[in-house]
Amino acid sequence: MSKIQCQGCGVEIQTTDPELPGYAPKSAMQREDIICKRCFRLKHYNEVQDVPYHDDDFLEMLNQISENQGLVVQLVDIFDFNGSFISSLKRLTGNNPVLLVGNKMDVLPKSVNHRKMKDWLRRAAKDQGLSVEDVFLISAEKNQGIEELSKAIDKYRKDQDVYVVGTTNVGKSTFINTLIRNTSGVNEAITTSYFPGTTLGFIDIPLDEQSSLYDTPGVIQRHQMAHYVSDQDLKIITPRKEVKPKVFQLNEQQTLYFGGLGRLDFDAGERSSFICYFSNELTIHRTKLEKADDLYKNHLGELLSPPDKKTIQQLPELDKHTFRINEPKIDIVFSGLGWVTVPEGNISVTVYAPKGVKVSLRESLI
Ligand code: GDP
Repeated sequence: MSKIQCQGCGVEIQTTDPELPGYAPKSAMQREDIICKRCFRLKHYNEVQDVPYHDDDFLEMLNQISENQGLVVQLVDIFDFNGSFISSLKRLTGNNPVLLVGNKMDVLPKSVNHRKMKDWLRRAAKDQGLSVEDVFLISAEKNQGIEELSKAIDKYRKDQDVYVVGTTNVGKSTFINTLIRNTSGVNEAITTSYFPGTTLGFIDIPLDEQSSLYDTPGVIQRHQMAHYVSDQDLKIITPRKEVKPKVFQLNEQQTLYFGGLGRLDFDAGERSSFICYFSNELTIHRTKLEKADDLYKNHLGELLSPPDKKTIQQLPELDKHTFRINEPKIDIVFSGLGWVTVPEGNISVTVYAPKGVKVSLRESLI
């Protein structure tokens, strides 16, 4: 029997397991334009269904790009570079040129220097083995920077196809909807969702007679903070508005808790300021270092929340990273959560984040 594909997303149709991708009931097989259960719900109820795709399946689908020629547009979440960067992109996309796009710039504080942010993104990609043609900052939701990016896409694609790639939750559906709306005036062409894991299939958007823009499946990355927390907690830690920095003046031997998902101990140094950039909804607690362990043990999920009860069940233990910061103006980045700027330097800190969630230092963006 020849393969039957979903007319909505292109996934291969199967009639055996309703929980797996591509399911359609046997009765639907009589129709000419068969669509999978997920696309059916999207079309009729405007509701996206989570489909349990394995990372390897997504990567295999993305691998198709290396066999074709075209421009690759990789979207990352500027609040979660490490969680949202696809490190195997170079291998998956072959020698095709890549544009790197940092989405969600609307939540960056106004004082962030865009040039520095772009330089940092370019360098961070390079560190992971990917040289990019150019870097852009956009807000897919607020329609900022999209026109400039569209022009660059047209320039770099050289009349070839365009593949938009990204991990789940970077805002890929929102971006594509915005692109379509800008060019055609159609609203909500692809449904977006708050939660990861909902973009599926290569969706084909014609650019001209010969070429198309393809929306590729969203890759799930295990180390994205988004996968460790409940839907409720994800809403709290994901900034929705411009992030307002919170400044703490700390003496050595004091600790900050970011909810209960991150922790910073000021081990040694002169009294210093710590400027915290996290979702405005995330509560930050200051305590003495000597009391910090007990606070965590006794109040995780209550005073120190998120995590809520559901998150606690799946949250890995906190992992410890110690840094000696000599330079002034350094950011300590908690991937997927936020960052702390240390303006003065010359201090030692110990930083905790759930195991698997990356913590790194960078030159301050402000
Ligand atoms: P996808 O999984 O990559 O397709 O991501 P979605 O388009 O479904 O977006 C994931 C989440 O990020 C949703 O809650 C969106 O509202 C949000 N989002 C997308 N683009 C932006 C943006 O430019 N700014 C902000 N603040 N949020 C965004």
